[in-house]
Amino acid sequence: MTSGERRDVVVVGGGHHGLVAAAYLARAGMSVQVLERLPRTGGAVAPADPFAGRWATSVGALPDRLLGELGLDLELRTGPAEPDVPDAERAAWDRWLADTGQLADAVRTTLLDPLPLERDLRARVDPDVWRDLVVRPLGETIEERFRDDGVRGLAAVGALSAGAVSLHDPSLRQNRAFLDDLLQRSSGRRVPVGGMGTLAAALEGTATEAGAEIRTSAGVSRIDAGDDGAEVTWDGPDGAGTVAARWVLADVAPWVLEILLGHGEHPETKPVGAQVTVDLRLDHAPAWHSGAPPTWLASGYGQLTAAYDATTAGVLPDPVPGRLEPTDDPAAWTFHGLLTPATLFDADPDAGRAMVADRVVAELGRHLVGPVRADAQVSLPQDVERELAMPGGHPLHGDPEWPWAGNRARLDTPAQRWGVQTDIASVLLCGAGSRRSGGVSGVAGHAAARAVLEAAAEAR
Ligand SMILES: Cc1cc2nc3c(=O)[nH]c(=O)nc-3n(C[C@H](O)[C@H](O)[C@H](O)COP(=O)(O)OP(=O)(O)OC[C@H]3O[C@@H](n4cnc5c(N)ncnc54)[C@H](O)[C@@H]3O)c2cc1C
Repeated sequence: MTSGERRDVVVVGGGHHGLVAAAYLARAGMSVQVLERLPRTGGAVAPADPFAGRWATSVGALPDRLLGELGLDLELRTGPAEPDVPDAERAAWDRWLADTGQLADAVRTTLLDPLPLERDLRARVDPDVWRDLVVRPLGETIEERFRDDGVRGLAAVGALSAGAVSLHDPSLRQNRAFLDDLLQRSSGRRVPVGGMGTLAAALEGTATEAGAEIRTSAGVSRIDAGDDGAEVTWDGPDGAGTVAARWVLADVAPWVLEILLGHGEHPETKPVGAQVTVDLRLDHAPAWHSGAPPTWLASGYGQLTAAYDATTAGVLPDPVPGRLEPTDDPAAWTFHGLLTPATLFDADPDAGRAMVADRVVAELGRHLVGPVRADAQVSLPQDVERELAMPGGHPLHGDPEWPWAGNRARLDTPAQRWGVQTDIASVLLCGAGSRRSGGVSGVAGHAAARAVLEAAAEAR
């Protein structure tokens, strides 16, 4: 057991947000230890593996300014465009793009600042846009604005990208997920040249160059925390250790953090991810009935609604809606399935994988000319959870919140102002489960680092 070590900051989890936080803090002169349970860093931002589409395939709301501040020399190329819409819906769709773009732009300019107040953000957006995207259930807006079932579906899919939710849910979970997805996508699907792994490698390089120490294969099993500091215990194949720190940044999901803090495991609050990934290998490059590959499968509004209804009845949707993504190999495709909550597969994951594979291959077959044999490798939310310790396989560590502070929110501490606070002053969130996520964005890691630096300055 290694013990007696002390750092200014320990980062629990070396996902991309954790690496961003470590890089900013080490560059500011703090001593930083990152502890990562896997043998590699990056979390869901992973190097390509034989299962091509298993992890994040594009960057999200990653601000160019963050790349510049960290000196990351990454070239991002933009992926395939979203599908076109029929002429009859053209004007409504253009208005949709303008309105959603307006909200996304207003939020995007705040992502590297302390949380804006809701009223300040609202003042920057047309009142009708705010009402349609923030105040009322997204399903109402979509049904009012579009008549075409396919266009309605296209407008709705972003809301279903994280969890299985009704488009009419009065809690507006779907609107919050929609906004998070919008922030991820509104600059197009951007992919680093060289693959997603180059982003993690660049972040790790920047953090270590600045002096951060990164220990992989070190799973944190416990955090003993008080308001003035904490002690973190980790285990690895070569032994165990403890390290004390003034601040602990949690790149693990808030639900996992509660367990590490000794507050127990609460199944009723566990996030439920609802995405499956299917790697499809065809026996030859396919020809498509419509002349071009579809971007979405089974994503008509009626199909999405029926799929959601199936999930509430505990049944796998048939067909499974989702996005079809090309790879560099014309015979290999990745399918990102929606509305497939982890709970559907708890009883028998193997049977679940087989059923997902059958349904996706059958639906794909409807778009292909002639017979094609396809091997399908399926990753369930359970697989994501097992590999990354993302609870319920939820890609955002839990349902997203609005990326602003309520008008009466307490904003007394730097952590509160940056949206990364927990109930313990020495422990801050720094990952996707903090208030601002944006997928692969680095925004949460930046926010946590800025909160620590401000708290340190206030203490001097
Ligand atoms: C399958 C999938 C596809 C996705 N696709 C996209 C996409 O295309 N575009 C996009 O923008 N977003 C995508 N996302 C979402 C995005 O990748 C994540 O929200 C983001 O990467 C989360 O980053 P993070 O650093 O907060 O956490 P993570 O990436 O989850 O990293 C957390 C790290 O903590 C480690 N850890 C966990 N427990 C412990 C412990 N006890 N001790 C030490 N370390 C621990 C984990 O091993 C992991 O490395 C996807 C997510 C998934 C799961």
